[in-house]
Amino acid sequence: MTRIGFIGLGNMGGPMAANLARAGHAVQVFDLVAENLQKAITAGCIAAGDAREAVGGCEVVISMLPAGEHVCSLWLAEGGGQDLLGALPAGALVIDSSTIDVASARRVGEEARVRGIRFIDAPVSGGVAGAAAGTLTFIVGGEQADFEAARPILAQMGQNLFHAGALGAGQIAKMCNNMLLAIHMAGTAEALALGVKEGLDPAVLSTIMGKSSGNNWSLERYNPWPGVMENVPAARGYQGGFMTRLMVKDLGLAMALAEHAHSAVPLGALARNLFNLHATKGQGAKDFSSILELYLDKAPGEK
Ligand code: NAD
Repeated sequence: MTRIGFIGLGNMGGPMAANLARAGHAVQVFDLVAENLQKAITAGCIAAGDAREAVGGCEVVISMLPAGEHVCSLWLAEGGGQDLLGALPAGALVIDSSTIDVASARRVGEEARVRGIRFIDAPVSGGVAGAAAGTLTFIVGGEQADFEAARPILAQMGQNLFHAGALGAGQIAKMCNNMLLAIHMAGTAEALALGVKEGLDPAVLSTIMGKSSGNNWSLERYNPWPGVMENVPAARGYQGGFMTRLMVKDLGLAMALAEHAHSAVPLGALARNLFNLHATKGQGAKDFSSILELYLDKAPGEK
């Protein structure tokens, strides 16, 4: 049993903390939203009055927050935040699983090292369903020894654990992956829309492309056309899954990374514009596979 502090109990953090409590750890939790805190208590976590109380006496602390500004505010007191690093004993391990910009992850990690605290960036893939099922993929940046120290804890929330490289490498790998995901989802929707407008059946076309050189994960595992596949967001009105607005956020992080690396990302930039356009049409809360609707004159299934 490990005493674990957990800050940020939203769509992802809530079920992740619950899995740790279920595995027998003492999980001290805090969230700014009372309702999220209450759900975690119901799931067996221990309530704290604030973030400082949540990390009290903990060997491991996990944060799962929306963006870099929240992470820097919490850990470094930037923008009038908390300086939570100052509340930890030397040798404590901080696991930040938020998806954030690489510069923020490195800034927090380097400040942690100066204070004798271990830090890894450990963004996840797998969405809300993966968080609930404990099947997330963790993509970690930081020292190998810190990755190994985190492994038993991460294994209780996820199935695939990758060490991508040094501090910040977890965020870099996550951004590369999500940029590629956005590109092949948009490409899959585009190809299906073209074929269907020319009279093909979307299921037949999906099977043909799935056995041909156009095959990819979006087509084979997450088909955007309603009715082609069961148990995907397209089968339930694009509810659940990975929201378009979160994909837009991740693509924004990928663009900033590309600028830093002086690396051309023309397809990533186009995908960002497509998903952003879709979000500004009021579709930001739908799963990102609903990008298909951008290619159709009507929503699929609409008469
Ligand atoms: P969310 O908005 O549902 O949850 C974030 C939580 O952090 C909220 O409950 C908020 O109240 C809390 N919070 C913010 N600042 C805080 C502070 N200072 N102290 C305490 N609590 C604070 O977001 P989410 O969907 O759970 O996503 C979390 C992170 O995981 C994001 O970086 C997101 O990009 C990433 N992610 C999300 C998904 C997904 O499908 N939702 C998938 C992979 C990665």
